[in-house]
Amino acid sequence: MLMTMEQTYIMLKMMQMLLILLPILIFTLVLLYCVLHALIRYLIWRAARRRAQQEAYRDSHDAQGRPLPPYSRGICQTCGQFSHRVYYMPDGSRVCDGCYHSTQPPVKTAEQPCESN
Ligand SMILES: [Zn+2]
Repeated sequence: MLMTMEQTYIMLKMMQMLLILLPILIFTLVLLYCVLHALIRYLIWRAARRRAQQEAYRDSHDAQGRPLPPYSRGICQTCGQFSHRVYYMPDGSRVCDGCYHSTQPPVKTAEQPCESN
């Protein structure tokens, strides 16, 4: 099988093109991989940060959204039991989670029926 001069020239030109295009293609794929990897890691990090912020908010606020006083482990001065969460009240007393929530007044919400009408 003999190739003509024109066929040989076309063949060489195609190989030249391949030698130029192949590194560009590999570089593009590597770049795309890096960008996607960074994007996925960023999204995972953002979700983890949001989860941590929600956890920290739940840890420092009650169900109605009111801020809770600082706490640590200790003995409640009201019921005298050990608790992993004893709140340090502004008046100096130490109250456990159960006693704290039983003494807090319930928050009036918008869903409560209005009596004045
Ligand atoms: Zn208590």
